[in-house]
Formats: sequence, structure tokens, C-alpha cells
Amino acid sequence: MTLAELERKLGRGVSRAIADFSMIEDGDRILVAVSGGKDSYTMLHLLRALRRKAPVRFDLRVVNVDQGHPGYPGHVLRDYMKREGHDFTMIEEDTYSIVTEKIPYGKTYCSLCSRLRRGILYRAAKQLGCNKIALGHHREDVLQTLLLNLFFAGQLAAMPPKLVTDDGSLIVVRPLVYCAEEDIRAFAELEAFPILPCDLCGSQEHLQRKAVGRMLDQIERERPGSKTIMLAALRNVHPSHLLDRRLWAALHLPAERDTEEEGSPRDGIIPNECLVRT
Ligand code: SF4
Repeated sequence: MTLAELERKLGRGVSRAIADFSMIEDGDRILVAVSGGKDSYTMLHLLRALRRKAPVRFDLRVVNVDQGHPGYPGHVLRDYMKREGHDFTMIEEDTYSIVTEKIPYGKTYCSLCSRLRRGILYRAAKQLGCNKIALGHHREDVLQTLLLNLFFAGQLAAMPPKLVTDDGSLIVVRPLVYCAEEDIRAFAELEAFPILPCDLCGSQEHLQRKAVGRMLDQIERERPGSKTIMLAALRNVHPSHLLDRRLWAALHLPAERDTEEEGSPRDGIIPNECLVRT
């Protein structure tokens, strides 16, 4: 795909997510969190393009957190933001020392590191007068989280496209949730974004996340389109076919009619007789 085609495709995904979940409203001031990776560069590029033609008015404030990783090349990001004319703030806060002190050597830093970074971003949003924060999680992040929760946490949950912070003062949005990582990667390469290295922290990547990522890639290789279907499943939930009593109570669900007797199982639901019983 050409750069223009990719931009149109990604732009359509972002517009759809924004419309589906009312992510952006008139008068919003949005803190766009950038890490210097392909996802946040792409998100920033697409939000700015959208801002130029959107019927509503909203502002973007771009923020990066320099967490004190040895050799962090913050100047690369500064130069890019200046060149592009973004309203950019780099916050320097040494969470690296805290994380390396608290987490035993060899363990993954990510959980504490990202919690601290999130706190810094929330604070920055309030200081900059923002009411929303945009994060660059994409389709693969959503699907990996779904599988991680399913396999390791005993929960059926992916990532919220939009959530209100605990104190109710900010809204976090994820405009890339419908966008495929491969499209983002290709777009970032063609745009030649100056990507910052992501291994400066010395942390091992989240091993379980990596494992489910590989699993999803393998399924996609064997059955192309599987990721699209999985994402569609998240938009087509049948609460009565889940076993959560709180959900049943909250939705006042009656017992479902057995339409299978009439020889027409509901679209998308696997008929009971197809299930292997041992
Ligand atoms: S990969 Fe490194 S910088 Fe990123 S969340 Fe994990 S510890 Fe923090």
C-alpha cells in the first residue's frame, strides 16, 4: 500500500473509533502521550490531520515523559516536535531509579514503570488544562490483553476504548483501537518517524504478552483475517451466552429462547451439538 492509502485506511479506523465511543467533543483539550515509538507518532499524525478537517474544535498538547533511562535521546523527539510545530512538553522525572531500586534484578519493570508514567501524565494533563489523554494502543494490544485476561486473570476483558479516571477528572481515550499494528508499522516506516529505541530501560518485555502476541500472529498466518474477526467479536457481545450473574442482573436478562429447535441457530453462535463433550 502507498503512504496515502495507508493514511486513509488508518484515518478511517481512527474516525470510526472516535465516532463509536464519542472520544472527541467540541472544546476538548487533549494531551497526546508520545513515547517516541511508531504507535504514538502515528496517533499524533492522524489526530492532527483529523483536527484540520473535523467539524468540532479541539486542541492537542503533546507530552513525552523522560523517565531517566540511561542514554535517553530526548533531543530526537524535541527536534521532531519543533520541526512539525507541535505544542510539545517534555517532562523529566527519574522513575528509572525508583523502578530499578524497587524491582529485583531480572524481574520485569513494566508494571511499576508504566504506573508511575501514567501518574505523571495525569498530573501533566491537569497542569496543561487538558480534559482528555490519548494513548496509542492498537488492535494487537487490545487482542493481547483479551487473551492475557482470559488465560491468566480469569476475566473476560480487553482494553477500554475510553475510560474515566478514578477521581472522575480526566477521560483516557484510545483512538487506534481499530487499527492494525502492521499498518501502523508500515506507515511509520514510510513516514520515517525518528523512532526512539525502546530497550534503554533494560527490562525484559512482558513475557506472557509476547507469548500471546506470537499465538495471535500464528493464528493469523494460518487463517488470515482472524484478528479482524476477533476484533469484530469484541463489538458483538452476547451477554446471555456468558456466565456472569452480575451482568445478567445488570442487564435484566431473561432466559434466552431456544431458537435452535426451529433449525436456525442464531448467527455467529456455535450450535450446542457442535461442541465436543468429553
Ligand atoms: S519497556 Fe521499559 S520503559 Fe516501557 S514500560 Fe517497560 S520498563 Fe517502562
